[in-house]
Amino acid sequence: MITEFDTIAAISTAQGEGAIGIVRLSGDEAIAIASHLYIGKQPLAEVASHSIVYGHITDGTNKVEEAMISVMRAPRTFTREDVIEINCHGGLVSVNRVLQLALKHGARLAEPGEFTKRAFLNGRIDLSQAEGVMDLIRAKTDRAMNVALGQLEGRLSKKISVLRQELLETVAHVEVNIDYPEYDAEAMTQDLMVDKVGFVIKEVDKLLETASQGKILREGLATAIIGRPNVGKSSLMNSLVHENKAIVTDIPGTTRDTLEEYVNVRGVPLRLVDTAGIRETEDIVEKLGVERSRKALREADLILLVLNHGEELSKEDEALFEAVAGMNAIIIVNKTDTPRKIDLDRVQELAGARPLVTTAFIEDKGIDELETAIANLFFEGAIEGEDATYVSNTRHIALLEQAKQTAQDALEASESGMPIDLIQIDVTRTWELLGEIIGDSVQESLIDQLFSQFCLGK
Ligand code: GDP
Ligand code: ZN
Repeated sequence: MITEFDTIAAISTAQGEGAIGIVRLSGDEAIAIASHLYIGKQPLAEVASHSIVYGHITDGTNKVEEAMISVMRAPRTFTREDVIEINCHGGLVSVNRVLQLALKHGARLAEPGEFTKRAFLNGRIDLSQAEGVMDLIRAKTDRAMNVALGQLEGRLSKKISVLRQELLETVAHVEVNIDYPEYDAEAMTQDLMVDKVGFVIKEVDKLLETASQGKILREGLATAIIGRPNVGKSSLMNSLVHENKAIVTDIPGTTRDTLEEYVNVRGVPLRLVDTAGIRETEDIVEKLGVERSRKALREADLILLVLNHGEELSKEDEALFEAVAGMNAIIIVNKTDTPRKIDLDRVQELAGARPLVTTAFIEDKGIDELETAIANLFFEGAIEGEDATYVSNTRHIALLEQAKQTAQDALEASESGMPIDLIQIDVTRTWELLGEIIGDSVQESLIDQLFSQFCLGK
């Protein structure tokens, strides 16, 4: 593994008018480079590790900035290299000036994700933890942030390591069985497979079961608001957006698609799909044409179907119910402040087991109930402990699925009396695939690609 790097620098706080900006340096020369910029009571080289000193930043002639400097010496740092963090007051201009000075004195501008990449390459964190950092930067709700944090803490890595250990032991046991002919190697192998590989398959399944929720936490629940013109779709949209500001970071690279709006409903991130379209189009079904709107509906994880309390149920309403048959939907009867004309018994019948909520958006009524319904729908039956591990990363999911397949192959091969070496190949392959999740045995190119998705300064 490469352990010698040049010294990199970047602004590691969000760009913009923050009160404090941090320039971070990492590498062998970090302290030496910072010393060129620093005027203070004590030379940085003599400052104890993991302490902060006060001083000024100089451009060589003048003091240009007041600063607090953290000195952290390898190896107890995020990158396992010497790390300097220069905390400067003020906005973009002053932070940039400090960065420029660091570059002038020999630091190289870090590529996106390069700090995290070093932490990985220096063995400080494994790949799934590094991906956790990336998810953390992009997390849209507290809950999504917890999932990312759990991954960063190595929760998934620990589970994967346990499974890999089981597989290694299986391989070792089978070898021993072959070496001692007094055992019935075939029968032993089959017992072992059923026992150990069976366990691995079960555990991989459990992880995969969390995938859809994990993915939703990470990417948002694709939500479509549908209903006839004038029933209150835009009003619903606005109250959801105004009451539930999504946690969004303003770090470059996290800019959201303009066609989507994120809201955070009790920890469930909703991705209100094609909101521009929904806002402009009074009737999504009519404007898009039935086929296209059906497709848009199929791709949604959640449908909010809005009806009008003050009007009779129409043919279009019934058609909308048909269009969302079998989907996750919440039925909303809006405008309860107006005299009832809708047949509520019929609505209840059409809704079936799906939640039915009555609202008057104009009076802010029913929003709470609607939010409860959304949260219940999402977290129903979900084991939701502090230490819940959600698999949310598409790469992890794909690898888990492949690992499950090869584990099953091993199991079936042993049941049908295949030669032991062949079975070993499948077990070993399973072990490798699981290893790729934590970055054991991944190729360099994959690593580069992953880390380039990071933001600058992380
Ligand atoms: P959309 O066409 O489905 O998007 O419906 P809008 O949200 O644009 O609302 C249509 C009209 O109904 C607007 O004038 C809203 O102010 C009004 N409206 C929305 N919700 C309510 C409600 O709960 N009660 C009443 N009386 N009017 C509402
Ligand atoms: Zn509208």
